[in-house]
Amino acid sequence: MQVHTLFTGVANTFIVENHNGVMVIDAGMPHQAARIVKAMRARGHSPRDVRLILVTHGHIDHAGSAVALKRLTGAPVALHRDDVRLVATPNLKIPPGRTRTTEFIGAVLRAFGWLAPIETFTPDVLLEDGQSLREFGFDARVIHTPGHTAGSVSVLCDDGTLFVGDSILNLVHVAFPLYWEDAAQARASALKIHSLKPRVCYTAHGRPFDANELDAFIARVK
Ligand SMILES: [Zn+2]
Ligand SMILES: [Zn+2]
Repeated sequence: MQVHTLFTGVANTFIVENHNGVMVIDAGMPHQAARIVKAMRARGHSPRDVRLILVTHGHIDHAGSAVALKRLTGAPVALHRDDVRLVATPNLKIPPGRTRTTEFIGAVLRAFGWLAPIETFTPDVLLEDGQSLREFGFDARVIHTPGHTAGSVSVLCDDGTLFVGDSILNLVHVAFPLYWEDAAQARASALKIHSLKPRVCYTAHGRPFDANELDAFIARVK
């Protein structure tokens, strides 16, 4: 399995490849679909190689190009059922800020949210905790990691690679999300992620981090 990272406006998109094809984890901001396909072509894949577009949660920087990417690839779009509400209407959704600064920034973004509508959709696949992704060609399973949003998920691959979406960030250092719908859930999800003993974590915001960095973060916040 190989992981190729593409920055799609605000967050990372991951092009995950194996001998069965490609899984795209998060589709980026609106108008990123053609770029994602171009990056795949550069790596020798045709759009038809995409088996699944897995959106870790319903925010615009992850789901913004999901429908457009589905049009270009024919692949189904997967999202947890608890985040379907976030992609059912076009307006910008930002949870409460974790700090006063992010709450202020969030309030400003919400006020100008009409400038950045999302293309709404109904997911083809509704994700659940523990769900295997084998039918899509990947030895991986879905882990429900709510808190940032109610329907946030992570993807744990059998080789110990974990894609955490926005459940844990690594912008300056490994940290909780800047925004969260439910702080207690987000903390519980971080502990859950730690208990999975991942070898490497790919976050949607910032650099990947290893087990040692995750240990240090959990020790700090526990
Ligand atoms: Zn988010
Ligand atoms: Zn994000």
